[in-house]
Amino acid sequence: MLQKNLADLLLAWYKENGRDLPWRYKGGAHPNPYVVLVSEFMLQQTTVTTVIPYFHRFMERFPTVYDLAKATDEEVYQLWQGLGYYTRARSLHASAKMIVDDFNGIFPHMREDVLKLKGIGTYTVASFLALAFNQPETVIDGNVMRIMARLYHLTRPLDEIKDDIRKKAMALTSHKEPADYASAIMDLGATICTPKKPLCMVCPWQQYCKSKDLPDLEQIPTRKKLAKKEQHGYVYLIYNDKGEVFIRKRTEKGLLFGLYEFP
Ligand code: SF4
Repeated sequence: MLQKNLADLLLAWYKENGRDLPWRYKGGAHPNPYVVLVSEFMLQQTTVTTVIPYFHRFMERFPTVYDLAKATDEEVYQLWQGLGYYTRARSLHASAKMIVDDFNGIFPHMREDVLKLKGIGTYTVASFLALAFNQPETVIDGNVMRIMARLYHLTRPLDEIKDDIRKKAMALTSHKEPADYASAIMDLGATICTPKKPLCMVCPWQQYCKSKDLPDLEQIPTRKKLAKKEQHGYVYLIYNDKGEVFIRKRTEKGLLFGLYEFP
């Protein structure tokens, strides 16, 4: 009963306070899986504010999965320039080609099929299925882990409580409105239950939260301290009398495959 209450409270809060984002569908509007997929790739390791202009440019240039599938690598990289983590652009491009070639342009909606796409891990598959197909998948990222650890006052290091967090997050997930619930918990982590100075006074879960008002609240979840590593790197430039600089295209498979670099 309490779990249902928590989900309902969060959903009610989201309807009033959820962020309006260009890739978002609130209140049961029919989602476009392509829009969801592009935004999910862009949002990996990148903030919403940074992503928004890139998202608009990308959708303008590649409005459908077919447009993206037939684009060249260079065209895709060009629009991704500045967003970083280029592996994501390559994976998104490869996934678009797979959707067109292997799934006849129909977006997969079964977990095992979505996992066949390039660069899709457990977080993205859950998020994609929840947002694009309204499936009751539990999305678990740093935001959700922080909220769960605080809500239930789990004070052991994060590595030791991940399973517990997963079970608790799954139990809370709304089966009635999974897409809105997934967006709502993301927004709660981004705007209310923030790492520093959480706004407990306006939190829809304040009544049930076991960490609210505790002095160690900002320290939850705790993390094991890692020794600091120092790294050094060198770059050489080769240039001629005309000021032209020699660059080459990377051919080794890996993080920066297909991009240009100084030799
Ligand atoms: S009451 Fe405070 S600590 Fe608890 S979930 Fe809400 S914002 Fe986070």
